Amino acid sequence: MNLADTEIVQGVLNSTGYKFTNDISQADVVLVNTCAIREHAEERIYGRLGEFRHQKKQNPNLVVGVLGCMAERLRKQLIEEEKVVDLIVGPDEYRRVPELIENAFVGEKGIAVRLSKTETYDDIIPYREDGISAWISVMRGCDKFCTFCVVPFTRGRERSRPLESIIDEVRLLSERGFKEVNLLGQNVNSYQEGSFDFADLLYAVSKVDKNMRVRFTTSHPQDLSDKLIQTIAENDNICNYIHLPVQSGSNRILQLMNRTYTIEHFLNLVGEVRRILWTRKQIPGVSFSTDIISGFPTETEEDHQMTLEVMKEVRFDGAFMFKYSARENTKAWGMSDDVSEEVKSKRLSEIIDLQQKISYEINQTLIGKTFEILIEDLSKKSTDFYMGRTDTNKIVIVPKGELQIGDYCLVKIDRANSATLFASDGIKIEK
Ligand code: SAH
Ligand code: SF4
Repeated sequence: MNLADTEIVQGVLNSTGYKFTNDISQADVVLVNTCAIREHAEERIYGRLGEFRHQKKQNPNLVVGVLGCMAERLRKQLIEEEKVVDLIVGPDEYRRVPELIENAFVGEKGIAVRLSKTETYDDIIPYREDGISAWISVMRGCDKFCTFCVVPFTRGRERSRPLESIIDEVRLLSERGFKEVNLLGQNVNSYQEGSFDFADLLYAVSKVDKNMRVRFTTSHPQDLSDKLIQTIAENDNICNYIHLPVQSGSNRILQLMNRTYTIEHFLNLVGEVRRILWTRKQIPGVSFSTDIISGFPTETEEDHQMTLEVMKEVRFDGAFMFKYSARENTKAWGMSDDVSEEVKSKRLSEIIDLQQKISYEINQTLIGKTFEILIEDLSKKSTDFYMGRTDTNKIVIVPKGELQIGDYCLVKIDRANSATLFASDGIKIEK
């Protein structure tokens, strides 16, 4: 989401004549986009500001800006205590970045952190390098108010971007040779624009270019509709991969988190999705990933065991796993953060170990099977190999051979660990 926001800011700046550099010593302006979701994300920003302070000593005219969720949250502190910061811009005020930079050039500090009920940047063309996969924010903000989460406070009310403007952008991406779009929102299932819901949007996007893969994230378990599951089943280029955060296996904790579903509902939903997508699309079925928080206030060993049980029952393909981090303004901030750091860490490592074991076992069952993958990039570890993904979002490493980035190809898996599948060659598919 932050990458997508950065591309919007770059789109705004590009249209006012700014050029981009990756070399900080060449820059007149340096902007850092921030996340406030957990304390750790915030801590990292202070480290970066230290670097910028050093740069500013060498180039006193350098303008430094902090963008995003932290800007919104810590505006006073950042301007007063972090003298290095010249401008602070929250997630709904990116149109003002050029004006604030101009002011900063003449020595005026600027803050723009108002949240909007309507801003979706629908007319801004994000600045993207050519590539294979693009992010598109289809909605902004969140109205769910999970008690641990700062997003409704830092990103404001939920609003959806007009369907037509999303389709226009997907069309442009297809013409530029992109092969995949990722539709983004904190809770894409509550997308609503006039009479169009998220299933309508997904359907319309999938029809733009049948050779373009369509992915989306994040789905809230309360709102994933039958219509949406059917839409995924009936359109081959909508990927069979669902990120469905469970957060905890204990109904008591889920209620304290205000997640608005029970574990029984969650398990039924997963079962239903599997039933429909397995029979309709067959191989490679459907994969699920999730988010889990360990050590939410009052979490007991028994609650924790319930989380492990749910993981064993669902057998998620992957998970993002976090220690609970108390955030100011949220309802849980007022609860006592009573699970000790030591216990949180112990539970988190049990969760991580179990997930690794499950991912490993699932991936072992894929050895010998053939999948269609989209080649996305060079492998991070060796330029003799490519990295591609299955429809179900599994990473596959394959030798380059005659293949090119952007090709679809068939691969037979001959080795796997918990995070990656390996194939010895790929056969290009003409589409
Ligand atoms: N809108 C998405 C989540 C966005 S935040 C959803 O509802 O699923 C991504 C993940 O960060 C959350 O799913 C949650 O697992 C984690 N998270 C959010 N706030 C947190 C906090 N205060 N402490 C620890 N993890 C948190
Ligand atoms: Fe945060 Fe809950 Fe909204 Fe996700 S749904 S962004 S966790 S408040």
